Amino acid sequence: MRNTVLHLLVFLLLAWINPAFSLDANFEWKAGVAKMDITPNHPLWLAGYGGRTAPSEGTLHPIWVKALAMEDAQGEQSVLITSDLLGWPKALSDDIRAAVQRKYGLSKAQIILNSSHTHTGPVLQDALFDIYPLDDAEREKIKKYSAGLSDRVVDLIGQSLADMESVRIYAENGVARFQVNRRNNEESTQARITDLNGPNDYAVPVIKVEKSDQSLMAVVFGYACHPTVLGINQWSGDYPGFAQLELEKDHPGMQAMFFQGAGADQNPIPRRTIPLARQYGRTLAAAVDRVLEEDMKPLASSLKTAYTEVSLDLNMPPSIEELTHHCEVSSSYQKRWGERMLKDAQDGKEFRTSYPYPLQVWEMGDQRIFALGGELLVGYAIQLKEIFGYDSFVMGYSNDVMSYIPTARVLHEGGYEGASAQVVYGLPAKWSFNIESTIIHGMVELAKTIGVQSPQSKLIGQ
Ligand SMILES: [Zn+2]
Repeated sequence: MRNTVLHLLVFLLLAWINPAFSLDANFEWKAGVAKMDITPNHPLWLAGYGGRTAPSEGTLHPIWVKALAMEDAQGEQSVLITSDLLGWPKALSDDIRAAVQRKYGLSKAQIILNSSHTHTGPVLQDALFDIYPLDDAEREKIKKYSAGLSDRVVDLIGQSLADMESVRIYAENGVARFQVNRRNNEESTQARITDLNGPNDYAVPVIKVEKSDQSLMAVVFGYACHPTVLGINQWSGDYPGFAQLELEKDHPGMQAMFFQGAGADQNPIPRRTIPLARQYGRTLAAAVDRVLEEDMKPLASSLKTAYTEVSLDLNMPPSIEELTHHCEVSSSYQKRWGERMLKDAQDGKEFRTSYPYPLQVWEMGDQRIFALGGELLVGYAIQLKEIFGYDSFVMGYSNDVMSYIPTARVLHEGGYEGASAQVVYGLPAKWSFNIESTIIHGMVELAKTIGVQSPQSKLIGQ
């Protein structure tokens, strides 16, 4: 009897200190973290801008790949990878995921490879090669770095899986508003404008991983905004790099992990200076800290994962005559793209007419996480939230970054995100008019396979 009373008192005390303790074992997860410094130790070309004329010249702050392994009460596992990289090219991502399946038995559904899209990270093999003025020696260095990175990421995932301990996991959305829709606002006057045009997504999704002693193991956070404050020739994670540094400084021992949202048409404005990158990093870290300080939603220990690739149609590629004319009138990367295309066409090579586009859903407790490939425009995040609930988390730049992914409206409007970025990424044609319906329909169907439906799906009984 006295034992029972004692147990009850201890339980009430723990519940008072930490409300999550009043929850039962259904909220008990396991998790492990690992990270590695991927800063190249020699000059290498920086990714994201075609205008650079020389490789890297030193480091502003180190760049990282970070892993968070999670396991629910039934033993179902997943690994989230975040990275200070422009994007994971398909071949590299496929290699990593095939090795992870072989070595650790995890399927593509169980791994998310997200990239922050920093424009001060390294060029990787087979990514945007037309836009960089690379010679053979630079290409060889990139090839070697990419191969080494692939092996190291597989090892990193192994480390995170090998070192798991008991945790509780929480989720909640915060808010920050330094992004600006770059298609619908003029950058040159941004600093003075008071009325900015959308669409926007101000959400700062946060996942908190708390150890049994209530110290923080990891915080995962996102934002939908290009890391294009900096175009310097030094390695950095741009504003997400500064945000992670701030959070890790304020919470010693915790691993801070940033994921990029649907930030393809969002820029941090004004931009272009290191103090601005630091300012936005601090702003984002402050938004995350506020969420950590308030009550967050505890996630029941139930993990469901699903992955598929839908075929996105491309329009007809240009003819030999059209390419010949294009090469005569264009310059720079447009010309390099045209010449490569023309040679392929003359060699009788078939151009691709579709692209296998990755879609992924995780449900952790009742938290929905949607991960999509490519440079995802903000309209997709808004639509997915309208369908699946505004507390859903949306990641772009996941598993394969093959080009921009415009909404139907942006495709119709054209411009960089709707049309010319296809050349930057080396694709032969524009996306077909059905891109948006294919992606949204594909995601709805994928979500159904693991029982994820709209929160408004019930007519009665709610
Ligand atoms: Zn971009």
